[in-house]
Amino acid sequence: MVTYGAMLEELYQEIILDHYRRPRNKGQAAPADMQAKEYNPLCGDEIEVTATLRDGKIADVKFDGHGCSISQASASIMTQKLIGKTLPEAEEFIDRFLKMMRGDVPFGGKEMGDLKALEGVLKFPVRVKCATLAWNTAQSGIRQKGKKL
Ligand code: ZN
Repeated sequence: MVTYGAMLEELYQEIILDHYRRPRNKGQAAPADMQAKEYNPLCGDEIEVTATLRDGKIADVKFDGHGCSISQASASIMTQKLIGKTLPEAEEFIDRFLKMMRGDVPFGGKEMGDLKALEGVLKFPVRVKCATLAWNTAQSGIRQKGKKL
């Protein structure tokens, strides 16, 4: 018997694979008003995040790098979530996602969309670093930018 939980898991798997195979916003944003690069030694994932800012908002954000399907899919989903946000809004959104991945706040809430697919990663603590790599990278990019402003 196929349970509802198993069906949901399969759907989430599909979302992750779709973003991995057809990454959104992959490459380099130009001009890069913000840039950061981080590495997850546990898995060998590498992510670079670049963003173009306009009128105080993230007009474009792209990721580049390589690694496992979770790290790349999470980066792809993240770029879709950050476009159009101001830096404080982006920082808040990132912070909330990182708290969810640490289990500090319940998973879910507004603006989740494809991000829901990453909930399953919580069951595999060793993979959490894969899912949060892009987000930590974007966060450090925003913080560096904040210091310069
Ligand atoms: Zn990984």
